[in-house]
Amino acid sequence: MTDCGCDKAKAELEEYLHDELQATDAEDIAEHIKNCTSCDSEHHVGVVLTQAVQRACKETAPEVLRDQVLARIREMQSH
Ligand SMILES: [Zn+2]
Repeated sequence: MTDCGCDKAKAELEEYLHDELQATDAEDIAEHIKNCTSCDSEHHVGVVLTQAVQRACKETAPEVLRDQVLARIREMQSH
């Protein structure tokens, strides 16, 4: 197993979320996320954010929505 490391995982997380990576790179990131709590939680936040924006971007300005989602995530994490 090769672990690509947090730096690469976090740098490429956005592309990973948008399916913009080469398959081999995406596999590296997926593998790392599975084994790294820090990157896993960052990935989870990214997934929630991406889905929420995709779902609601027609009704709400993305910046407003982003703030709302981030506030909700912070609330979740503080419990
Ligand atoms: Zn990591």
